Amino acid sequence: MVVRHAAFTNTLRTSARYGRHAKSGFSAATKKWAQRSVGKSCSSCGRVMTKPSKSVKGVKKDMSQLEVDHIVAKSRGGNNSSFNARPLCARCNNIKGAR
Ligand SMILES: [Zn+2]
Repeated sequence: MVVRHAAFTNTLRTSARYGRHAKSGFSAATKKWAQRSVGKSCSSCGRVMTKPSKSVKGVKKDMSQLEVDHIVAKSRGGNNSSFNARPLCARCNNIKGAR
């Protein structure tokens, strides 16, 4: 069945795109450094950032969780060094990314 196969392939592609933090690219050391800010206030909105949890299929992401943000977006020439990283809550990070 050609149609069913196409639908299945599409589902796989969607979960691959949303299942991981594909846009991050920071090293483990940088992420670890950023996680020292867990429990501190987000520099953008001021909410207390929580420990990032592993994304679980079907479970909505906690928008207070800490994420590592590129100070200079990669699309604008920013790199993945710790100098270009700052902790931000998931909500602010997502708003920024949508811009
Ligand atoms: Zn925030």
